[in-house]
Amino acid sequence: MDSPNIPLNGPPLSPALTGQQVCFAFDNTFARLPEHFYARLDPTPVAAPRIVKVNVELARELGLDADALTSEHGVAVLAGNRVADGAEPIALAYAGHQFGYFVPQLGDGRANLLGEVVSSDGQRYDVQLKGSGRTPFSRGGDGRAALGPVLREYIVSEAMAALGVPTTRALAAVTTGERVLRDTALPGAVLTRVAASQLRVGTFQYFAARGDGEGLRMLADYAIARHYPQAAQAKEPCRALLEGVVARQAQLIAQWMLLGFIHGVMNTDNTSISGETIDYGPCAFMEAYDPAKVYSSIDHGGRYAYGNQPRVALWNLARLAESLLPVLAQESGSEEAGLVAANEALSIFEPQFEATHSAGLRRKLGLVAEREGDAALAENLLQCMAANSADFTLTFRRLCDAAAGTEGDAGVRALFDDPAAYDGWAAGWRRRLEEEFADGQARTAAMRRMNPAFIPRNHLVEAALDAANLGQDFQPFEDLLAVISRPYDERPELERYSAPARPEERVLQTFCGT
Ligand code: AMP
Ligand code: MG
Repeated sequence: MDSPNIPLNGPPLSPALTGQQVCFAFDNTFARLPEHFYARLDPTPVAAPRIVKVNVELARELGLDADALTSEHGVAVLAGNRVADGAEPIALAYAGHQFGYFVPQLGDGRANLLGEVVSSDGQRYDVQLKGSGRTPFSRGGDGRAALGPVLREYIVSEAMAALGVPTTRALAAVTTGERVLRDTALPGAVLTRVAASQLRVGTFQYFAARGDGEGLRMLADYAIARHYPQAAQAKEPCRALLEGVVARQAQLIAQWMLLGFIHGVMNTDNTSISGETIDYGPCAFMEAYDPAKVYSSIDHGGRYAYGNQPRVALWNLARLAESLLPVLAQESGSEEAGLVAANEALSIFEPQFEATHSAGLRRKLGLVAEREGDAALAENLLQCMAANSADFTLTFRRLCDAAAGTEGDAGVRALFDDPAAYDGWAAGWRRRLEEEFADGQARTAAMRRMNPAFIPRNHLVEAALDAANLGQDFQPFEDLLAVISRPYDERPELERYSAPARPEERVLQTFCGT
């Protein structure tokens, strides 16, 4: 069987030409795969595109000319009104388990992959328009996106990037001059997002569900070439691919947990093969710590609650392993051996998650050395926070000051319903800190690099979206973006952005807005 002949991760291509006409130096590999992997079609033009935002820094990292992107031609490309030179727009086929139920065909119902670019460090990225019109995968949908969800994805994905979490990025947002009908008529928008790739667990499920063994093997080869090139040298490359995805997902979910991030729709079609956070819908950062916390209006059973995320990720990875069974069986010599390989690969998840999560918790508490009892110390704090509705982000941020001396305690105590509950825990924490070498100042600085001051708090996100939706006022969006771009910096003058919502500001539910 031929594997796709693609020069991945090779030397960077020549950077994009500057000027009005050329925005991207596309070098497309996915569009070289067989035609049944996608549908070829151009984005559907919109009435009156206007630029909201171009991510100048990301553009630079990708070797793109930000000025060309904001030119009339550039905006037309970002709105889907023109197809850039070298683009080969396609909508990708995939399937997926949505809330536990298998849907054999989902696919890009409102997105067009324009093509791939290679950044100056040789990394390949997909450039995709979201909200760019109907496709053969749209089912009953209109193919469009509303401005609110587009700005939400822009803010939250950029926050995740700044926090150091693998994620798709937002390159640009444009309004369309058209309305989209949801519960009410809302301004329409198109998001340009950049991803390591658009390959999902659901992409593998699509071919597995059709019994398309050859498609499955081509897809596995493609995923290996693009994301796990070392797996190509392994004795059992598909097994090495699965192991790689399991490990990266375990690390990713651990990072989410350490930041209080709740994805909200961890369906298998929203679980990436590259290990990035993808598909920002009703996602949210938790305020008061509560393992059972759910924000999404459509997650009635709490399937995707904060504390369920590791378990759900492993469930999703089991669906990937299942899909790969024919390939695993072939390369290991028998169905039985393939099954053993799949289970062994999945067994990597738990220890990898635990290792990343507990190391992260230790660092969040200012502990460098590893001691027995550290996990219990962290767990006790979390239990105490849950019992006292303590704000997740701010508790850890204020511990950075408390680590330098007891003067810092007042700020942490104030976050607990019963401040004395913190005192009891802090006494044990201080005894443990005495076993560390670092001095107070250095420890505080190190802890601040683990415990952000600024997350995109839900009420601030909503306020930014409301201003944009109702008054075409994008200033709150710009301001919030500037704040969350430097989440770990100490900026006392921005206290308004680090404070939890007041009771009347609290956001109780988030919506995916599709
Ligand atoms: P999501 O919840 O964004 O992950 O989307 C799940 C599936 O529904 C994907 O196949 C999307 O392409 C599709 N979808 C979501 N919204 C729309 C829409 N407005 N029009 C067409 N398809 C959509
Ligand atoms: Mg999706």
